[in-house]
Amino acid sequence: MATKTKKRPKKKAAKKTGTNSRHQNVYDRERTRHQERGSRSRFIRFDKDGKTKMRVVTFMHGKQECAFEPNFMHFNVPGDRKAVRCPEGDCPICALESEVPESVWKGNTAGRGGIKPSRKFVCNAVVRKGPDQKEDELQQRELPWSVWDGINKCIEDGEITNAFDLKKGVDFVINRKTKKKFTKYTVTVMPASKPVKMSVEPVDLIDALGDMPELKALQKIADAIYAEVE
Ligand SMILES: [Zn+2]
Repeated sequence: MATKTKKRPKKKAAKKTGTNSRHQNVYDRERTRHQERGSRSRFIRFDKDGKTKMRVVTFMHGKQECAFEPNFMHFNVPGDRKAVRCPEGDCPICALESEVPESVWKGNTAGRGGIKPSRKFVCNAVVRKGPDQKEDELQQRELPWSVWDGINKCIEDGEITNAFDLKKGVDFVINRKTKKKFTKYTVTVMPASKPVKMSVEPVDLIDALGDMPELKALQKIADAIYAEVE
């Protein structure tokens, strides 16, 4: 006699929360901050393996045309902030790198992620292929340093003049591969890129990211780190 076998309900796939929830938290905070400020900007993380195809759209800041805005962050800083934006060049936290020997750092900053800031760039993008594909929406996308560098190299090496033009510009194909803990990105140009048809209203990303923290505040954090490792 055939017995009915109850089909086990399929387990729902566990929701992926991203490989680095620490960064995600910072990200969410940034987003909340922007929402509180009434900004419509929405920063999207680049967080899945595979190929993504996107067009970068420039924005105007005053009379200056910009493609990318650096968003460098120091994570796990002491005090009530968990992360602080790095102004590069003139940064007291970065300056610690030459003041404190690396051996001291390494021994004392477990989990802090080192002195160096995380280097990301934000841009306005039309995502034409990938998890966040939307042909008719301009998204604010945060790119890792190597993707930003790859895009620039593509433009320089291919001697592309109108890379960011909506009609004549090019799409960038970003291939993301993760092996163990290491993530590698390679960037190539789509030889025949479709023109962007929608009318776009790029976000001024310099305004959206807001002011840099004051030097005094950064110095205070740097002093706290220094006191910790001394
Ligand atoms: Zn810094």
